[in-house]
Amino acid sequence: MATVATEKMEFPLWVGGKAVKTGKLRTINLPYDGAAVAEVHEADEATFGRAVESAQEGSRAMAALTLYERASLLEKLRALLVRDAEPFARLIAMETGKPIREARTEVERGQLTLTASADAARSLHGEVVPMEAAPSGKGRWAITVREPIGIVGAITPFNFPLNLALHKLGPALAAGNSVIHKPSENTPLSALRLAPLVQEAGAPPGAYNVVPGDGETVGNWLVMDRRIAMVTFTGSVPVGEQIRAKAGMRRIALEMGNNSSLIVEPDADLEAIVPRCVTGAFSHSGQVCISVQNVFLHERIAREFTEQYIERARKLKPGHPLEESTEISSLINVEAARRVESWIGQARDAGSRILTGGVRRHASIEPTIIADADPSLNVCCKEVFGPVVVLHRYSKIEDAIAQVNSGDYGLQVGVCTRDLSLAFRAASALRFGGVIVNDVPAYRVDHMPYGGVKKSGIGREGPRYAIEEMTELKLICWKA
Ligand code: NAP
Repeated sequence: MATVATEKMEFPLWVGGKAVKTGKLRTINLPYDGAAVAEVHEADEATFGRAVESAQEGSRAMAALTLYERASLLEKLRALLVRDAEPFARLIAMETGKPIREARTEVERGQLTLTASADAARSLHGEVVPMEAAPSGKGRWAITVREPIGIVGAITPFNFPLNLALHKLGPALAAGNSVIHKPSENTPLSALRLAPLVQEAGAPPGAYNVVPGDGETVGNWLVMDRRIAMVTFTGSVPVGEQIRAKAGMRRIALEMGNNSSLIVEPDADLEAIVPRCVTGAFSHSGQVCISVQNVFLHERIAREFTEQYIERARKLKPGHPLEESTEISSLINVEAARRVESWIGQARDAGSRILTGGVRRHASIEPTIIADADPSLNVCCKEVFGPVVVLHRYSKIEDAIAQVNSGDYGLQVGVCTRDLSLAFRAASALRFGGVIVNDVPAYRVDHMPYGGVKKSGIGREGPRYAIEEMTELKLICWKA
């Protein structure tokens, strides 16, 4: 059995390649039981100002590196993350409350994000523009080049504190930019541990600055500071909308929420998809932006799917995140768990059936499966961000597609069928950033383009795609 003892640590913030102590301390607690695990020095206004100045120097130094040098830096950082994988996994489990096995997966994914970022640096290129396609282009040549934009301001949520930081840091460094990062106030530890590794990997001082603090103060300074060329945000819709309103003419990328749906046709491989729905809905207690939330079941397989699903969900082992055997632990805090509990209560009061789960203990919620829920209920139309799934029945796939398309979100959606032409018809009709055929909408590899339409966001992550948003396209045209 793994030890679950935790020692309280102190984390300075990170500016200009150095650890800085402000004395403005915040305690980080283990979400599962509230135990204090760390004290973090948060940014004050003067330190934030120094972070911007050092990021200005860092951006000049990063821009001067060749693509080869940037790729080598990212590969070295990856090697350091391999070396320190287990301490990172423990830190992630402690600050987020996700089971240690899932925390290890996050570290592995972070390594892949860095590999993809190094690849993106090596393949960053422009194109030759066919100027003679216009009458006035005769005798002219033109090429495009991609130049760094300067300082990237990154704001990240609590649920993947390492990998989402790397999804911003990796492409930003590959592009030749520097970064000022404001992690979630709940989970700043991974970024603060990452910062010295970026230095150790050989980054210029000021290439990566981490300024913890709460969103409304430090986050707001970052959004309002015109020296920062781009704001890349991952988080909830209300905060993303505020950031967009304040960002003015600067670059912006918004990766936001979803109430992810899966459509299951009668010919689907239930043996494969039911266990995937367990992982896809209940990993990290459903606190994943593409967590399975609404499952649309064709009436011919609805009963069989439901029975198998309930049986598997009930087998998940709850417990402390640092216990090796734990399969489901807690939400980020008691407040979040109380909100999810109240949404389940609203569904119950409205006549929905709670097929399993529904009970809260401290910050944990049992894996919960609901049926007969009206689409207007919070558990259907809003993002639950908890271990809650709603099962719906349909007889014609067109109706399921129409219902899925009628929502506010558009990140990823899943369709399960063995009929290839039906799968393509559905994929073309669904208005989402990504359509996953024969798997859950929670499926993601880190180098694929990832982002949403409608309220799910603006822009795409995945280093090869993010690097485009983090560079300026310049045209150079000459007369022969
Ligand atoms: P959140 O409350 O929106 O916070 C996200 C970040 O924004 C945090 O660092 C937060 O700081 C900061 N923030 C809050 N108010 C701000 C303001 N006025 N100005 C600038 N920054 C501000 O989201 P969360 O609860 O941490 O994470 C859950 C959400 O993230 C869900 O909606 C989920 O779908 C989304 N998400 C999306 C993706 C994706 O790739 N599409 C991935 C993961 C998560 P504080 O923590 O200090 O408040």
